[in-house]
Amino acid sequence: MAILRIIEAPDPELRKISKPVDGVDDELRALMDDMLATMYDAPGIGLAAIQVGVEKRVIVMDISDDDDKPLPRYFVNPEITWTSEEMTTYKEGCLSVPEQYADIERHAQCKVKYLDYDGNEQVLEADGLLSICIQHEMDHLEGILFIDHLSGLKRKMIVKKLTKAQKARATL
Ligand code: ZN
Repeated sequence: MAILRIIEAPDPELRKISKPVDGVDDELRALMDDMLATMYDAPGIGLAAIQVGVEKRVIVMDISDDDDKPLPRYFVNPEITWTSEEMTTYKEGCLSVPEQYADIERHAQCKVKYLDYDGNEQVLEADGLLSICIQHEMDHLEGILFIDHLSGLKRKMIVKKLTKAQKARATL
């Protein structure tokens, strides 16, 4: 397994719309293994393929607590088929928007249809952090970042900070 480079905002790559995959084969499983290793290494609780520069509708996730046993989840070609009217707010972060956090409102529950690690069709009804994480990662597949849900001014401030931090790193 390899640790992949995570792309950071405002890299335009993150704005691409990811493409559906034909099915789950060994090559795709190898990508998911690498994505999971990269996510654990970061560390984070969710990662979309586009964040490592692969335009595929693939997401990995693990929202279990540190003390728990790892509970990796894989979503291939995920589609949200239902969302609750009830909304919830959570302080979100993103591996592609390092060290920035903001309260984001999302649907409290959602239902998602997807292919799992073995290519089998699954339907999952999610709530709590799982529901939030699924909606956050699904946004990545459409080229949307969590900061896009903020007001223009807040978003601009975050992008400015990120650009500054990247420039500082580049001059080292
Ligand atoms: Zn993210």
